[in-house]
Amino acid sequence: MSRKFYITTPIYYVNARPHIGHAYTTITCDTIARRQRMLGADTFFLTGTDEHGQKIERAAEAAGKTPQQYADEISAQFRNLWKRMGISNDDFIRTTEDRHKKRVQELFRQIRDNGYIYKGTYTGQYCVSDELYVDGAQPGDPCPTCGRITETVHEENYFFKLSAFQDKLLELYANPDFIRPETRRNEVISFVKSGLRDVSVSRSTFSWGIPAPDDPQHVIYVWFDALANYVTAIGYGSKHAAAQAAFKKYWPADVQMIGKEIVRFHCVYWPAFLLAAGLPVPKAIVAHGWLLFEESKMSKSRGNIVRTETILDVLGADALRYFLLREVVFGQDGSFSFDALVQRYNSDLANGLGNLASRTLTMINRYFQGRVPEAPQSAAGPAESLIAEIARKTIQDFGAHFDQFQFSRALESAWSLVAAVDKYIVENEPWSLGEKALGEKKDEASRARLATVLYTSAEALRIATALAHPVMPDATAKIWTQMGLGDIQKLALSDLAWGQLPPGTKLGEVQPVFPRADKSAVERMQNMEDQQRGAVAESPASAAPAATPAPAASPASADGKITIDDFAKIELRVGVVKVAERVPKSDKLLRLEIDIGTEVRQVVAGIAEAYAPEPLIGRKVVIVANLAPRKLRGLESNGMIVAASLEGGKPALASFLEDVPIGARLK
Ligand SMILES: [Zn+2]
Repeated sequence: MSRKFYITTPIYYVNARPHIGHAYTTITCDTIARRQRMLGADTFFLTGTDEHGQKIERAAEAAGKTPQQYADEISAQFRNLWKRMGISNDDFIRTTEDRHKKRVQELFRQIRDNGYIYKGTYTGQYCVSDELYVDGAQPGDPCPTCGRITETVHEENYFFKLSAFQDKLLELYANPDFIRPETRRNEVISFVKSGLRDVSVSRSTFSWGIPAPDDPQHVIYVWFDALANYVTAIGYGSKHAAAQAAFKKYWPADVQMIGKEIVRFHCVYWPAFLLAAGLPVPKAIVAHGWLLFEESKMSKSRGNIVRTETILDVLGADALRYFLLREVVFGQDGSFSFDALVQRYNSDLANGLGNLASRTLTMINRYFQGRVPEAPQSAAGPAESLIAEIARKTIQDFGAHFDQFQFSRALESAWSLVAAVDKYIVENEPWSLGEKALGEKKDEASRARLATVLYTSAEALRIATALAHPVMPDATAKIWTQMGLGDIQKLALSDLAWGQLPPGTKLGEVQPVFPRADKSAVERMQNMEDQQRGAVAESPASAAPAATPAPAASPASADGKITIDDFAKIELRVGVVKVAERVPKSDKLLRLEIDIGTEVRQVVAGIAEAYAPEPLIGRKVVIVANLAPRKLRGLESNGMIVAASLEGGKPALASFLEDVPIGARLK
């Protein structure tokens, strides 16, 4: 029997559309689940939606819908997004499903029968938004979590005897692997040490929830209901033998991934509920940090919540997955920006792994008729031994870091192999060897050396690709197929070792996997987000207009070069600035009227931080004349000024030393 591995995301509350923060948690779990499957574990990966509670009841009412309709719609958005992103979850639990409701009641009943749930009266302040009682608050006091005014409630409630679990919980926390990272563990320990009070686990003032067993006047508190999903989804409380067997097999969970804002519920309440029910606790509760947008917290009120769809449309899921795991130091807050995403994409994927794949495979095609060459021992030297050594170390380091949730360091080690091979290729110049081998002299020594260099490069590519597969399932599967290795999912990762690439393997069709993205990718994503918000704001990219408005993901050839015909599509013309003025309420934008000979164009340009309007009048500039018009701050911009982007995104306008006529075309 193979080892089992059970991993969960928190279930997402259906009060908000899915955004990049949800995607971050889900991607992280998906990556872990995929690696475990490749390591041969019988893996179960669970995610889902949390659909009960007063907040949903009220939001539905405001939207003129029933709570169920409302929950159905948002839950479907999550499922559709995960599908689109290729998330490999084995189940998706909804707390409004019958299977869940019955089993939650069973858990509640079990804990009550064990003497840890009792009935009492509560009078106090309650935050509807957070669905939390606020201890010690007076009427009119704000909620300490969200700042909204609390409501006074008197309720006859069921209470959970949390106070009985202080010592048992502290015993659990003694295991350093139970709560990660260390900072979260310390927080929880000091919270529990300060004393635990019993908590209410039912509500009677609203009805959108699961009725308490034998007492339908009460609904089960939404947090109890939600936390229980981790056991109900795999069969806890079911009377069916198959479900019972699944529960026995998969529980306790190996990893329960959460965001740091829900640590208390998962690290205090949840294990206490389990202990009270006589069930084992999870092996590890792992909290990640927040994903900030350009250093500030994403929130509805700031209007800076990034939708995942935008990134999928422009760069694809693998780019986002790689970025989040590589850029964010897991456990700490990480910053997301479109600029950083595109930069990382270009440096690590287009120029890194993608370039290694396309140059290596293209040369094997050219020099060895598309078959992986045999590498003669006699032609190998210290350079090859070094690459093999780095590859061996990378396999080890990647696993060690990854299994400690240090995804960034794991990827760093895989990319150090990519960098080493790049250097190796440059130093060994396979193209020169190829010329000598194919030249008039048909130099045999060069041919042997060429075979060795290309075999070594391809083998390193294979190893980097295999390691990166859980992080970028799609792109790595493509590279694998191009290498002629078949289905990457069949690879047994635990056997991965240097030298397994069979000589003679016939390559598949070689195509670029990570086409280079240009600056317009940033602008496009920004514009898509602006449109979604119904407000057109200046984009960071408009401060540094790019000279090439070609779509990011449509390269014309394998090496990212375009043909002269592609270039001819861009109409670059000389114009002269007739009018220049600041765009009201914008620090970055100038409104320009530019004479290009045949007409005067209005162009809105993000150059106000580098250029005052007045001195620009009379200046000759270069504009992209056939760019589709777009709106910035409500003004139509008909064309784009060409500028170099200097450090810090500062633009410098393109200009000429010679006198050039207005309307002249650049070609
Ligand atoms: Zn609140």
